Amino acid sequence: MLASRMNNLHPYVPGEQPKDRVYIKLNANENPYPPSPLVIKAVRNAAKKHPEKLALYPDPDSNSLKEAISDMLNKTGGVLCRANLEGGKKNGSKARVSPSEADKIPFVVSPEMIYVGNGSDEVLSFVFYAFFDSDRKLVLPEHTYSFYPVYGGFYDIPLEKIPLNSDWTLNKEKMIEAANNENSGIIFANPNAPTSLGLTRDEVREMLKKAPKDKVFVVDEAYVDFGGESSIPLLAEFQNLVIVRTTSKSLCGAGQRLGYLVANKELVNAVTTVKNSLNHFPIDFLAQQAGIAACKDVGYYVHAAQSVAFERDEFIDFLREKGWSVLDSQTNFIFCKKDGVDGKAAYKKIKEEGILIRRFDTPGIEEYLRITVGTHEQMQALRDVMEEI
Ligand SMILES: *Cc1c(COP(=O)(O)O)cnc(C)c1O
Repeated sequence: MLASRMNNLHPYVPGEQPKDRVYIKLNANENPYPPSPLVIKAVRNAAKKHPEKLALYPDPDSNSLKEAISDMLNKTGGVLCRANLEGGKKNGSKARVSPSEADKIPFVVSPEMIYVGNGSDEVLSFVFYAFFDSDRKLVLPEHTYSFYPVYGGFYDIPLEKIPLNSDWTLNKEKMIEAANNENSGIIFANPNAPTSLGLTRDEVREMLKKAPKDKVFVVDEAYVDFGGESSIPLLAEFQNLVIVRTTSKSLCGAGQRLGYLVANKELVNAVTTVKNSLNHFPIDFLAQQAGIAACKDVGYYVHAAQSVAFERDEFIDFLREKGWSVLDSQTNFIFCKKDGVDGKAAYKKIKEEGILIRRFDTPGIEEYLRITVGTHEQMQALRDVMEEI
């Protein structure tokens, strides 16, 4: 009964969402803070004052949302954690925001450079469809976001996985060499998952200089707001660069499903063509209102990202004191292991104590734990458990 293409599907397995008991949830890299109060207000007002809008199709191109996203990027430089805050409330709400010196974008990001989709997973899917062919291998790191190989199977795109260096950094030289051999595209997350390590903008620039110019080079910046370096400024130099981003992590919006990409207009148009050939209206009316309100109150999220980064660094210090090996993290998660401790057993023990974290059965990283950074209280609870391990 099934089409033969079903054999190519190897679906992604997300972090578990158990219903049997209430866990402290540090397993899916969600933000521990709620959205800005202004987002709640915007959604409530939208439903209350304009109920008729729910009966109508939403703006298919989410134009107001694209404007709000481009404004936010120009205001922050694309890295929330390092942006400057002035005035506003204690939680950063209504503060004035400006980019740090290091993150200033040397041009204005315009709404035409933005594409928005139903979560960055959908955006990534359309990127695979629009830019990668089945007659050449797509180059990616061996350990990276595990959805990329899933799309490879879905669209029948062969993959060339390049092992990481022994210090868990990307093997940039090998990736570029492979891309040139095949004249093919490249994709990786920066900072990378699950390693939490990032490349500097200069390192990405060096890769772009040497990569095939007529093939798309994708940088997934899902975690960049927690302390990485954004490649957005490089869009002025490279026409083949596509940057995928999401509201799920740093904009406290995993439940609303909003992802986007930033690229030159021609590439944005290609992805829009894919969207219009599949689902004309990916972002519902309420999600558009929520996204717009979030971007307008970006100070709140700058504060949240800074709080997460602070908790992360404190927790890394704690783990290292307790003898764990921990990679430096530029993300909202921590990748760690301890000699003599079985990863699976540690994961189980932590779960029994009511805290969910993530680990992978993937060869090479079985002993590692991936811990999402939560609130101070959540991390204190985890400290109490990990003290014993
Ligand atoms: C979480 C994550 C995504 C998916 O984000 P959504 O917008 O929630 O679909 C994409 N890429 C990476 C690397 C991620 O960690």
